Amino acid sequence: MTAQQDIAKSIAALSFPGQAFINGKYVNAVSGKTFDCESPIDGRILTKVAACDATDADIAVKAARAAFVKGHWRNMNPFKRKAIMLKLAELMAAHAEELALLETLDTGKPISDARAVDVPSAIQSIQFYAETCDKQYDELAPRKPDSLAMITREPIGVVAAVIPWNYPLIITAWKIGPALATGNSVVLKPAEQSPLTALRIAELAAQAGIPEGVLNVLPGYGEQVGQALGRHMDVDMVAFTGSTNVGKLFLRYAGESNMKHVALETGGKSPNIIFADTPDLDACAANSAAGIFYNAGQTCNAPSRIIVEESIKDQFVELVAKHAASWQAGDPLNPKTAMGSVIDKGQMDRVLGYIETGKNEGAKVAAGGKREMTESGGYYIAPTVLSAVRNDMRVAQEEIFGPVVVSISFKGEEEAVKIANDTIYGLHATIWTSDLKRAHTVARAIDAGTVTVNNAFGSDITTPFGGYKQSGIGRDKGVHALEKYQQIKTTYIQL
Ligand code: NAP
Ligand code: MG
Repeated sequence: MTAQQDIAKSIAALSFPGQAFINGKYVNAVSGKTFDCESPIDGRILTKVAACDATDADIAVKAARAAFVKGHWRNMNPFKRKAIMLKLAELMAAHAEELALLETLDTGKPISDARAVDVPSAIQSIQFYAETCDKQYDELAPRKPDSLAMITREPIGVVAAVIPWNYPLIITAWKIGPALATGNSVVLKPAEQSPLTALRIAELAAQAGIPEGVLNVLPGYGEQVGQALGRHMDVDMVAFTGSTNVGKLFLRYAGESNMKHVALETGGKSPNIIFADTPDLDACAANSAAGIFYNAGQTCNAPSRIIVEESIKDQFVELVAKHAASWQAGDPLNPKTAMGSVIDKGQMDRVLGYIETGKNEGAKVAAGGKREMTESGGYYIAPTVLSAVRNDMRVAQEEIFGPVVVSISFKGEEEAVKIANDTIYGLHATIWTSDLKRAHTVARAIDAGTVTVNNAFGSDITTPFGGYKQSGIGRDKGVHALEKYQQIKTTYIQL
């Protein structure tokens, strides 16, 4: 059998989770309503999924609160909590192929990426946070010997995690890993475009031994179940990843309800600064193309703004256009495909609209620029390079979130930094140079949560991730992510 026949057989054997997961069980939405879960690969309907609303949110929050009050999870021996989380990682590994297929069918990302990146990274995140359960120590404040001031960390309580569709499995793990390791109860709302893997993880978590009510998953529309969680009086914290505009709504919901904590991972328009002294320009162009075309450009920290030194700008655009050719859109279920579909028709139209806007603003199309594989019934866009862009154009200021990179030129270090920082975002930046002093100076001058030098990639679960400015509040990943899921308590004892 060919690899594709193998995959077709595995898909035929898949079962698609479509119910909400509340208090340890799959259940329908109380209203009985569902929505279609469409695959962007070919437009087929994979399954119907429960369309939860405020009523379901209330039931899930009550279950999460009851579990928190009972305390089986938060007061569990930390060694045991670690063992259960490691067991979840083990079950995910045992179901790796199933999870990879669900993720690819749901999002249109290449199966080779789902297998090599999404599933293993999600497993690694759960393992990483499992290992923190029995390694966090509390503190004593400096005092005279007549008293004791203890500074202890406590779980915050009921955490609502609201997440996007670009990395459903990985972002689920980035949220539930630290939230569960610190002893909280979680109600997670996946994006309506990509609910499948989070629903499956909830069941695996129950199998691993996570007590009922501690992890609940509520699929549904953002304005309904998302908003209900954001405004709920008994949710202690929202951990959100998604667009900047919706992130701001969560700040408003918190202000208009119970002042819940709000952690936000939002948008980006990340500068990729290429100085003329870049050691290997062709390798830089290959890496820059991979940075923007990986996951069809639907990556919050993708290096979407090339900012290239004037003297090499034409040569560099040509090189990026050359490397774009190896990212042609293809069938996500073919293991050789490097770039799959975008998430849905709405997103495809939005991205194509931005390409038109760019042309109308005076940008030149150096590669791509159009829809592809229309006959598939799915939503594919050619890897696109727009050159001759100015930083004040809409395509340079607004997050396109598709396989489209813009190229802007600069003269001198000062102008490079000025253009890089001239954005409402501050998630990530990349600098290419062979001058170590310049690398440090420019890295320091850029307002971004992550700066990488001579590689657009380079962060993993050990490194904090999040934004300056309107790219967010707080950090995911690394041990610093634990802090936002905890309260700090001072207990003063007079001896
Ligand atoms: P989005 O539209 O902001 O949606 C994110 C989540 O919020 C979804 O679950 C969505 O639900 C929900 N939502 C939408 N409207 C809502 C409302 N009125 N009230 C409450 N919840 C609501 O973002 P997206 O289109 O899914 O994802 C793309 C965005 O995520 C990009 O801006 C990208 O940069 C950002 N992102 C950031 C990071 C990071 O770590 N900084 C990582 C990945 C993605 P429904 O869609 O189901 O309605
Ligand atoms: Mg889908």
